[in-house]
Amino acid sequence: MELYELGIKAAREGLAKGEFSSEDIVKSVIGRYHERNGEIGAYVSFDEEQALGLARERPRDVPIAIKDLINVVGQPCTCGSKILEGYISPYDATVIANLKKNGFFPCGRVNMDEFAMGSSTENSALAVTRNPYDLSRVPGGSSGGSAAAVGGKMCIAALGSDTGGSIRQPASFCNCVGIKPSYGRVSRYGVTAFASSLDQVGPMAKSVEDAAILLGAIAGRDEMDGTTPDVPVPDYAARLEGADMKGVRIGVPREYYDVKGMDAEVRRITEGALKKCEEAGATLVEVSLPHTEYAMAVYYIIAPAEASANLARFDGVRYGHRSPLSKDVFSLYCKSRAEGFGAEVKRRIIIGTFVLSSGYQDAYYTRALKVRTLIKRDFDEVFGKCDALLTPCAPTPAFRLGELQDPLTMYLNDLFTIPSSLAGVCASSVPAGFTESGHLPVGVQFICAGYDEERLLRVSKAFEDIAGA
Ligand code: GLN
Repeated sequence: MELYELGIKAAREGLAKGEFSSEDIVKSVIGRYHERNGEIGAYVSFDEEQALGLARERPRDVPIAIKDLINVVGQPCTCGSKILEGYISPYDATVIANLKKNGFFPCGRVNMDEFAMGSSTENSALAVTRNPYDLSRVPGGSSGGSAAAVGGKMCIAALGSDTGGSIRQPASFCNCVGIKPSYGRVSRYGVTAFASSLDQVGPMAKSVEDAAILLGAIAGRDEMDGTTPDVPVPDYAARLEGADMKGVRIGVPREYYDVKGMDAEVRRITEGALKKCEEAGATLVEVSLPHTEYAMAVYYIIAPAEASANLARFDGVRYGHRSPLSKDVFSLYCKSRAEGFGAEVKRRIIIGTFVLSSGYQDAYYTRALKVRTLIKRDFDEVFGKCDALLTPCAPTPAFRLGELQDPLTMYLNDLFTIPSSLAGVCASSVPAGFTESGHLPVGVQFICAGYDEERLLRVSKAFEDIAGA
């Protein structure tokens, strides 16, 4: 077995026994990168010297691939965008500082849809990323580079970020475990903002146990992010001990199964997952989240509204690309933004600016906030009746590069992941099987109440043990 194939747990065991060093792991990952990145395109930049230097300074720590929107001091942070070409981070994000405190270090930067807007990584201005299970297909998105790197065994584990599904859907497409933590569980300081009331960083890994270790390393209160409460972080990995399905009440939300456009194989695999849980001793409870039907509409008002405000800082003055064609400050803003942002980002800025503009704000933005509260209440109610929800993660397996041309069809990828994001609760994607036709991986989603990551991980682990995937 090559060192790049290892997960976090196995890497730590080998490091502790002195079988190999962190430098050996990094060298193995670099070798794999040279062998596979030309085809898969998971990484957008890889500072080999920095990674090797960190490994020498920390001979027992484990390297982690980092999504290209998280600041690492001295590294580019391009967010998949031309507008940030040439930008070098002056500081570490809190998640990076936490990694370094807890036995990890950053190693390579992985691709993403521009500013995390998208579901296929095709919106990256930097590189094409392919699904390691079928190179004609997308890895999902927006954390497609993270998923391709984990699924393609090009890293030990990775960090991704999820605003409406960007950890879970690519995890499903690339056979990884992904965790979208509860809102506020992980600091966003130093993470380029897309939609600030939704964004969360989370682990993408080769097993639930690895995801638990990595989540424990990054989570917790941070003075630099006022949305992180002082709630203790349990030792998630230790709490996995003895996890099983016996007596677990699995909620089956009707609205997630009676869906037109759900792929037949996804349906078969998700229903099979329910059956396996039941056979392993779980009780299935039928539940309803009636406001789910409005989630997409609400998300596509709130997320662009917040994005339009967050992306205002990219003005050609402070960061990255500055148009050489401008005559005055106004044309500097306009031309730098017109040249620097891609089509999807511009679409979101226009929608966001519109829904916040005077005369429309009450009709769109304020109303969307009210419906968001109803969606959140649905979840509060359901978690009185069950411990975890089990749903499909994405409506289809990985699709072909270039297959989805129309933005609305692309948005439908997040049908099952957006409601829990709006509610701020935690959710995972866990490998559940492969399609018969194309041998493509398919994950299922578990959702638990806010700050109940411990239960989420235990249920996910219990499922991993019986899924045989
Ligand atoms: N695909 C969704 C979007 O384009 C979600 C992205 C994300 O979670 N960052 O907005």
